[in-house]
Amino acid sequence: MAIQTVNPYTNKVVRSFEEMTDKAVDMLVAQSAKTFNSWKETNYEQRAQILHKVASLMREKKEHLAKIITLEMGKLIAQAEGEILLSADIFDYYATNAAEFLADKELKPEFGSAYVRCSPIGVILGVEPWNFPFYQVARFAAPNLMVGNTVLVKHASMVPQCAIAIEDLFNEAGAPNGLYTNLLISGKRASSLVADKRIKGVSLTGSEEAGASIASEAGKYLKKSVLELGGIDAFIILEDADIDKAVEWAIVGRINNNGECCVASKRFIAVEAIADEFIEKFKEKMSNLVVGDPMNSTTELGPMSSEEAAVHIIDQIRKSVDAGATILLGGTRSDLPGAFVQPTILTDLKPEIPAYYEEIFGPVASFYRVKDEQAAITLTNDSSFGLGCSIFTQDIERGKRIADKIDTGMVFINHPTWTQADLPFGGTKNSGYGRELSELGIQEFVNKKLIRIS
Ligand code: NAP
Repeated sequence: MAIQTVNPYTNKVVRSFEEMTDKAVDMLVAQSAKTFNSWKETNYEQRAQILHKVASLMREKKEHLAKIITLEMGKLIAQAEGEILLSADIFDYYATNAAEFLADKELKPEFGSAYVRCSPIGVILGVEPWNFPFYQVARFAAPNLMVGNTVLVKHASMVPQCAIAIEDLFNEAGAPNGLYTNLLISGKRASSLVADKRIKGVSLTGSEEAGASIASEAGKYLKKSVLELGGIDAFIILEDADIDKAVEWAIVGRINNNGECCVASKRFIAVEAIADEFIEKFKEKMSNLVVGDPMNSTTELGPMSSEEAAVHIIDQIRKSVDAGATILLGGTRSDLPGAFVQPTILTDLKPEIPAYYEEIFGPVASFYRVKDEQAAITLTNDSSFGLGCSIFTQDIERGKRIADKIDTGMVFINHPTWTQADLPFGGTKNSGYGRELSELGIQEFVNKKLIRIS
């Protein structure tokens, strides 16, 4: 994929970038490894100073940075501003809490005394997607830099200006050369970079295919990896749910970020007793969404991130319909010139239909009607993915009991799957392994060193 900015609202190329040569990448990796030797000697306060500065620069430049996001991948401008603020919060959160999270842990061995010290491990490579171009980087970079690691970031080829803007923030914040390094290279080259002896670990957020490629390289060279991959989150509506509230959240869960969210609610599973009411209200709201220019604050659904993405979604819908699915709403491109897909609802889905088992990364909801709670649980777990799940019920104890039976990394009761700095994020099954954010997210690329005193 060419490294370039293409505005998905117009499908016009805005700016192209040269890929870095092998020699340039080699020099940057060398610098990152060199900087690690001094950065690991800094204390938490010194590290926090840089991260807090990055956070405050983000807030200061929020409007400017948000416009780059919207230009490159079509996110609604208000949501892009929200992403910048969330990213700043993540930098502040780790700057504030890392010392506590990584403090020595005293052990009580049978003989002598001992403790576990958290030490940095070196240069960590992050391979990041375009859908939250600042937030994804923040949740990878902030904890690792506080640990004392240095980071290399291979960002998605369609958000090069976001990638450069993040590196610029670090430079402006006074980060030493090589602390945070942007690599303008293809995904394939990122995979082969894992073999480099100077790189000690790799974290990827993206598709299953890219995850498998990175993980197999990491396995081959015995390096730790973290994978945050796709999902087809279920959104269960039980008969005792507040239906109007569930419908409001269903729209947010499916349409947030133009539907291009790993943890978007993608499968709406309603029990028979309230299925008609739910789908009628949900369909009405989906059909009234204002589709248009993502820079316009009144727009509710913008374009997909690229023309290829829109074409792919329409192909998935067509294949699903050919295999027996029914379209309840939409199912086509819109009249606008950019990468638009109409809000869509599919139903009559069975295990052999693509929309049943594939992730559809756009404003396409799958609707299922089931007999009861147990059928909803069985359907939710019948997926190769295991990222998030939402359960709508007014009986919280019932929600907690059901949550225990769901095979996902995250379960939200009366809310779509969501993210914030102090909640762990990650999945099971083909949605990946490892966690980001919260205290768990800072423990991934750390040497938990035992020190035993006799
Ligand atoms: P993608 O194609 O896998 O791209 C993600 C990143 O991986 C990009 O930087 C990409 O570089 C790189 N890449 C692609 N092929 C690679 C390879 N063979 N080896 C190493 N790196 C490679 O994913 P996407 O389509 O952009 O993003 C959407 C996917 O990400 C969805 O499945 C979504 O659910 C998932 N996602 C998951 C989470 C989570 O936290 N679980 C969050 C957001 C998104 P290029 O751009 O240069 O190809």
